[in-house]
Amino acid sequence: MAYDPDNIFAKILRGEANAHVVLDEEHCLGFMDLMPQSPGHTLIIPREPVENIFDLSAEGLAVLIATTQRVARAVKTAFRPAGVMILQLNGADAGQTVFHIHFHVIPRYPGEGLTLHARSVADAEELREHAARIRAALQVVPQ
Ligand code: AMP
Repeated sequence: MAYDPDNIFAKILRGEANAHVVLDEEHCLGFMDLMPQSPGHTLIIPREPVENIFDLSAEGLAVLIATTQRVARAVKTAFRPAGVMILQLNGADAGQTVFHIHFHVIPRYPGEGLTLHARSVADAEELREHAARIRAALQVVPQ
């Protein structure tokens, strides 16, 4: 399938759709998931228009996963979860719903059920506050 330049993450990258951004760098953008599976659920995407892991260059993937690790550290600092799940889905049959490659950083808390997708949009004020906490933590976590 050809990359669809009108997918929602492409629109966020072009500034045509809003996001609660935690990291804005040359190669990657990090922002809060609109329908978080748990408080602090963050997404990291490359700026490169690539649908899935198979189409991304090894160099692009290296930058993306290193950035994901950095954001995951910040999420850990900001939310003190019991664990952190890193998730990346390829293809509709694997559960991918937005066809621009992304890594999920999902904080895990004791007693929480494990589902692949949440269904409800989070409160905008809460997402804003969570993004601010992660941005602050990114200033103090090691690169
Ligand atoms: P996946 O199923 O791996 O493709 O994940 C796509 C994720 O994007 C889901 O967790 C959605 O909640 C999230 N999502 C969809 N639209 C937006 C949006 N406008 N801003 C932030 N996250 C979004």
